[in-house]
Amino acid sequence: MAEPKVNELMEKIVSLSKRRGFIFQSSEIYGGINGFWDYGPLGAELKRNVKDLWWQSMTRDREDVVGLDATIIMHPKVWEASGHTSTFSDPMVDCKDCKGRFRADQVDNTPCLKKPSKMVTECGSDKTEPRAFNLMFKTYVGPVETEDNVAYLRPETAQAIFAQFKNVSDVSRQKIPFGICQIGKAFRNEINPRNYTFRSREFEQMELEFFIKPDEIAHAQGGAPAEEAPTDSPESNWGWKQWHGYWVNQRLNWYESIGLPSDSLELHWQTDDELAHYARATVDIMFKFPFGVQELEGVAARSNYDLTQHQEHSGKSMEYFDEEAKTRYIPHVIEPSAGVDRMVLALICNAYHEAMIPNAKGVMEKRIVMRFHPSVAPIKVGVFPLLKNKPELVEKAKAVYDLLKPHFNCFYDEAGAIGKRYARQDEIGTPYCVTIDFDTLGENPDLLDTVTLRERDTTNQSRVTIQDLLATLKSGLGLP
Ligand code: ATP
Repeated sequence: MAEPKVNELMEKIVSLSKRRGFIFQSSEIYGGINGFWDYGPLGAELKRNVKDLWWQSMTRDREDVVGLDATIIMHPKVWEASGHTSTFSDPMVDCKDCKGRFRADQVDNTPCLKKPSKMVTECGSDKTEPRAFNLMFKTYVGPVETEDNVAYLRPETAQAIFAQFKNVSDVSRQKIPFGICQIGKAFRNEINPRNYTFRSREFEQMELEFFIKPDEIAHAQGGAPAEEAPTDSPESNWGWKQWHGYWVNQRLNWYESIGLPSDSLELHWQTDDELAHYARATVDIMFKFPFGVQELEGVAARSNYDLTQHQEHSGKSMEYFDEEAKTRYIPHVIEPSAGVDRMVLALICNAYHEAMIPNAKGVMEKRIVMRFHPSVAPIKVGVFPLLKNKPELVEKAKAVYDLLKPHFNCFYDEAGAIGKRYARQDEIGTPYCVTIDFDTLGENPDLLDTVTLRERDTTNQSRVTIQDLLATLKSGLGLP
């Protein structure tokens, strides 16, 4: 039976990502290691852009959020307090025949290792009873491998923010409501890493913990009723529902700003069965991946659970003195928590297009065009001399490249026919290409010191003076 079409699309995306250097299998020369991925030259740029844009919008553009950069290994008590040591586990079953270990809730749609045409539920072999499997990677700190020296690679970045809440609030002179955000690696020993980078064992998170007043304090200070729809202008006496709604909107706006259209996203309000016991509400922001609608980010209203837990386990007060309300309380928190790798994968899937484009002879050809939003595109501008064996063209093209390079990531290319060079840039999503030709050198005196500017998505070409080039490109790329 033919494979479903979605798999074909994913195969094309995976193949392009490898061929053009977005994503490689980790340790590929040794056969790879399941659930671990490396980002090649273009993937590294794309990922960096995503993180920089998130950081810019979440902290630098705001007066009420500050950053943190904490360690990956923390005191193991952090994970006792957070509940990860006892509960961060999926129920697992082992197949007694193929020896595979599978998530109990996924055996219905996971192929058996011995009989890949059958699902684990249907392969006819005995299974063990479901058992808890802790997803944290364990290691030892120091030279002695005893239980006293056990530590964990963090399974999320959030807990460091809670553990440092007091320090940060003391030094930053922020007043509640305010947030602390962090970008960093997280590790989960996922049972079934799958869907390419979507479920990995090592990944990066971008998390904000936004601390707010408990509702009774907010309302005593004249806060709007909880039902009132959130606006884009936050108020310090908002209750958790307003802040939660506000952050969902902020995050949706951000996704649109980096090129994920609203119709590629869906909101999933977790049901009572799905909600963590301490969460008041969680909205998952889902993206329509080729393999299904899946979570990109969760925006959770986590009450004051985490800080309360750390107060109990550390014996250190996590209370905040609210000068306005003249009272002490443990702040509540709204947490937008996103995965960098999932975001990068969503951007790659969303950008992937096959377009019919005329080649140098005017014949229509099917080509891949990665329609990245300019803000995330790994390379913003390609710069080409029309011919590489004409020193005057090469010299002028290098001068244009040097002019643009300090302002954005550019790529100089003189190899092959010009159409091929455009095609290579289309395939990696470069929004603009600039070609230096004989008219630039004054063959047609009216066009002296002008270049051809080609747009990726329309393939339109226009003539722009070198003097105006930087400003034209900045405006096209949406830069100040
Ligand atoms: P899932 O249900 O898909 O396992 P989760 O609800 O456990 O995800 P959270 O603990 O809320 O995820 O983590 C926040 C974000 O971190 C997720 O929305 C996702 O973007 C990212 N993330 C979590 N686990 C992984 C993973 N194994 N690989 C890549 N990204 C991940």
